[in-house]
Amino acid sequence: MQYVTRILARNSAPFRVGRGVHQVERGLNRLSSHRRAIMAGMATLHEPARETPVWHECDVCVIGGSCTGVFAAIRAARMGAKVVLVERGGAFGGVATLSLVNVWHSPLDTVFEKPIIGGLTLELMNRLKSRNVVTEQERSPAWAWAFNPYEMMLALDQLVLEHQIKPLLHSMVVQPLVEGDRVTAVVVENKSGRGAIRARYFIDASGDGDVAHRAGVSCYYSNHLQPSTTCAIMEGWDSIKPADIGALIRDHRAEYDLPLGFAWGANLPQSQLYMLAGTRVQGLDPSNGDELTQSEIEGRRQVRAFLDIIKKYVPQAKVNLVGLPARIGLRESRHVKCQYQLTGNDVLHGKRFDDAIANGSYRVDIHHSDKPGLTFQYLDGTASYLVPGEPAVQGRWREPIENDPTFYQIPYRSMLPGTFANLLIAGRMIDADTPAHAAIRVMVNMNQTGEAAGVASVLAMRSTNDVRTIDIPALRNTLAEGGSIII
Ligand SMILES: Cc1cc2nc3c(=O)[nH]c(=O)nc-3n(C[C@H](O)[C@H](O)[C@H](O)COP(=O)(O)OP(=O)(O)OC[C@H]3O[C@@H](n4cnc5c(N)ncnc54)[C@H](O)[C@@H]3O)c2cc1C
Repeated sequence: MQYVTRILARNSAPFRVGRGVHQVERGLNRLSSHRRAIMAGMATLHEPARETPVWHECDVCVIGGSCTGVFAAIRAARMGAKVVLVERGGAFGGVATLSLVNVWHSPLDTVFEKPIIGGLTLELMNRLKSRNVVTEQERSPAWAWAFNPYEMMLALDQLVLEHQIKPLLHSMVVQPLVEGDRVTAVVVENKSGRGAIRARYFIDASGDGDVAHRAGVSCYYSNHLQPSTTCAIMEGWDSIKPADIGALIRDHRAEYDLPLGFAWGANLPQSQLYMLAGTRVQGLDPSNGDELTQSEIEGRRQVRAFLDIIKKYVPQAKVNLVGLPARIGLRESRHVKCQYQLTGNDVLHGKRFDDAIANGSYRVDIHHSDKPGLTFQYLDGTASYLVPGEPAVQGRWREPIENDPTFYQIPYRSMLPGTFANLLIAGRMIDADTPAHAAIRVMVNMNQTGEAAGVASVLAMRSTNDVRTIDIPALRNTLAEGGSIII
């Protein structure tokens, strides 16, 4: 009982989603499912021991098939590794495809002069550009590329097959198996039942750190968990102008029980369709089954409310809902404790690292969980606070200096849990504090962590047999030889 009390004290502010209060569940959800069941007084049962067939044996097993995971798999495969890629959805691409977030940020530094991101991010964009399914802006802090997410899905299938990667879709990793300081296998469940994948190296690119967490690596949650968002594809979006969706939500949110989030979106290239990302589901942990279920339903309820507001208050508009995502878009859940926690100071001051494997220029972008709107902080010392329907509040987070940094870096240490010789993490759960995560979480950055994990696992296989002791200059050189920009 003492433990429950401590958790509730830490999460003392009750939070609302729709009309529900979820304080107690949130505290309990920080525990393993077994301990949670015991603490909640739930009945438990003992499953009989069973023999599990080994479905695949490989050099590198990547768990999670967003671009982070796909890029990890491709880089390992290009170095000759036999790779299995496991994805719980029916397609690759993660949030970019299954959640319809069709916007990638700039591969240039903050003043749009120096290229800082290359590798598979550019390769994939070039493929999509060759099909004329990308809109490009060269000098915008808002976004650099808006793409058709369905076309990206098709391109990723092709890339996976071209590299002889063994794909497993509709397959969820449910349990890692561990011996000493090595993960020996992961257990997967899909329509065929339950099977294992044995591998020499594992890359957890699940976004939620499922493998690391279940293998016993220490994990944590931010006190300001960024909200999740259900996107929607709309037809006829231009017809609501000159009304402003942000102001409409602000003015009518009480009637529709909507939180004051932040509405933005992007056109799907070569179409009349618009991707709207305006819902805000806060206070629920997407790494918990019940809360993820509530999030999905609440996100769709908010899309319904937007459509109803438009119908009632902009009756001349001809907006139709033509697409909902396969799943709610997730910004943040569990983080994995690694050998170094990247901080907001590191990011905002452009700190350089000897083991840097990624560069980024996207601003600190905090979707607040404790107040409306969002805050941007830029590397040039400026900041803005935006609330839908209100003028932006401009300011500074620091005094001007002579030479502003123009990009930041992500070190290899922040994706190295250190507990296991053959486990790396890549993607949004890497070790980063709240402001650092708010900047680095964008896909052009996470893609690079995937590429680094793929290369690092093969280098370990060829040398020390331990991802903790690989030669860092060799990692950086090999990434650069494969097209990554390493500074
Ligand atoms: C509404 C919204 C708008 C955003 N806007 C932008 C933007 O404009 N530009 C931008 O770059 N970023 C944006 N982001 C942030 C960005 O999308 C995420 O931070 C990024 O996708 C994280 O990448 P990831 O690979 O770590 O995770 P994800 O994209 O979440 O991928 C994780 C993958 O792992 C799979 N998986 C999870 N668990 C398992 C398991 N146990 N077994 C097998 N597979 C598993 C999932 O199905 C998923 O495909 C936005 C996010 C949201 C939600």
